[in-house]
Amino acid sequence: MSSPVPLSDDARVVLKAHQISHSYDRRTMVLDGLDLSITEGDRVAVVGPSGSGKTTLLSILGMLLKPTSGSVVAALQPSAPATVLRRDYFGWVFQSTNALPRRTVLDNVVLPLLARRRPLREAREVAVELLEEVGLGGFEDQLAYELSGGELQRLCIARALSTAPPVLLADEPTGQLDEDTSQTVIDALVRNLRPPTALLVATHDLNVATACDRIYRLRKGRLEDWRPE
Ligand code: ADP
Ligand code: MG
Repeated sequence: MSSPVPLSDDARVVLKAHQISHSYDRRTMVLDGLDLSITEGDRVAVVGPSGSGKTTLLSILGMLLKPTSGSVVAALQPSAPATVLRRDYFGWVFQSTNALPRRTVLDNVVLPLLARRRPLREAREVAVELLEEVGLGGFEDQLAYELSGGELQRLCIARALSTAPPVLLADEPTGQLDEDTSQTVIDALVRNLRPPTALLVATHDLNVATACDRIYRLRKGRLEDWRPE
């Protein structure tokens, strides 16, 4: 289990968002001059009610959506094209899972590595180790569609972590799970995160948020520091 990474001045920044504003209809501002800086190994939660702009923020940070104004800088590869960054810089975990249902659990983690030209043997080693870490050791040969909701979500976490992306973006990863199952997902996602990967997780779930190093609330299009009462 990794300990919280201290936020020192010399911590390496992996992602910087500067003055992000976004409107879908040119009238209401979903995001309004938002700043955010994420450093290596950082675990950051963004909370806020439904409709407050969490998914919009993650989509912009992950370069899937261009903001109306402002900039996002992938600080470790500032001049790489967006197509490369979308593929290599960000890992994603969604509320609904993005596993390949008819492939084995092992294949689900091995395939993203093979797609990045890692040798099969090495890919299998990485996959087996990651599956063990997320609590899916022994499930290697099972088909993904046979897994429960919590197991599937942990498989998606292993998939997303396999390529060691600088930034892991998770959008309500426990949104469809009961509390006990959520805890296993939190352990896999937050407690097992290996530096240098940084995590930004949008969540309604206080157990997810309080497992992170920092919590922000998205309010009026900006992030403010937040602590549970
Ligand atoms: P959250 O993830 O916090 O629930 P969203 O980022 O999904 O919030 O949505 C923020 C606001 O932007 C909401 O009012 C939503 O209706 C609106 N919105 C989100 N996506 C779109 C879209 N593709 N087109 C138009 N409006 C959108
Ligand atoms: Mg959302």
